[in-house]
Amino acid sequence: MDYAKIIRDLAAEVQPLYGQGKVADYIPELGKVPPRQFGLCLQLNDGISHEFGDSRTKFSIQSISKVFALSKAFGLLGEELWQRVGVEPSGNAFNSLMQLEYEKGIPRNPLINAGALVVTDILVSKFENPKAEILRYLRQLAGTEDIHFNKQVAESERKTGYRNFALAYFLKSFGNLKNEVEQVLDVYFHQCSIEMTCFELANAMQIFSQHGLEPHSGERLLSSSETKRLNAVMQTCGFYDEAGEFTFAVGLPGKSGVGGGIAALLPGQYSIAVWSPELNKKGNSVLGMKALELFTTMTGSSVF
Ligand code: GLN
Repeated sequence: MDYAKIIRDLAAEVQPLYGQGKVADYIPELGKVPPRQFGLCLQLNDGISHEFGDSRTKFSIQSISKVFALSKAFGLLGEELWQRVGVEPSGNAFNSLMQLEYEKGIPRNPLINAGALVVTDILVSKFENPKAEILRYLRQLAGTEDIHFNKQVAESERKTGYRNFALAYFLKSFGNLKNEVEQVLDVYFHQCSIEMTCFELANAMQIFSQHGLEPHSGERLLSSSETKRLNAVMQTCGFYDEAGEFTFAVGLPGKSGVGGGIAALLPGQYSIAVWSPELNKKGNSVLGMKALELFTTMTGSSVF
């Protein structure tokens, strides 16, 4: 398969989509990112990678961090985790409060904000220094030490993250947050502020396409059954109220973030990360979604 050509062709095809979306600005610091950027990295399981455009530019991974936090918490807690958070698609915006009320504080899934806060709470309970542990874990997965928080982004979100505060206090009132709201949110805002490149992200996602084996160290971090569950949650819940659309158009498990990144994978074959900051109304990258749709169409590859 001529991946290099396919990627060049799809990149040319998505160029006219610039201007259709909008850079996230509800976190003021994110609003400063220049919109016309596009990067892609395909990491094949055999170790070969293909990159295009701004694939070595750091960007805010935001909600993509939820997948890594989840895999860490699941690895530690096992099936017990699902007593505190569900595995059903929400059909709602990522920061919606409604469901949490009538489902009595058990978030629908771990990839909406409410569920991610429960996952972060678990990490806060388990580790003396959860922020350092999250960084250490991502550095291991990505195979590089050069992964850091963006303190300005974390601070910007702390100052304006009223909905996340509301969700966290709500969870606390239902007894589904064990630690203090401020502490959990501090860790959550930091994990969201982590900056990575498409190249690093595609590498970090390898654990999910390699059935739980971390390829840089050769260490098994998750069982293949645990990896199956995490991939299933990404497939059904990774794009919030656009999870159906992403499955329909792209057909891969994956996760998006409001920084404009999307990371996805085909189990046993490859992981892929794409980034372009302009978002559609649901908070997913316009060029990124289209690029992945074209990629799976042109390569004839998907989980379906
Ligand atoms: N930090 C962002 C928030 O909590 C992450 C949202 C996202 O990427 N979808 O609002």
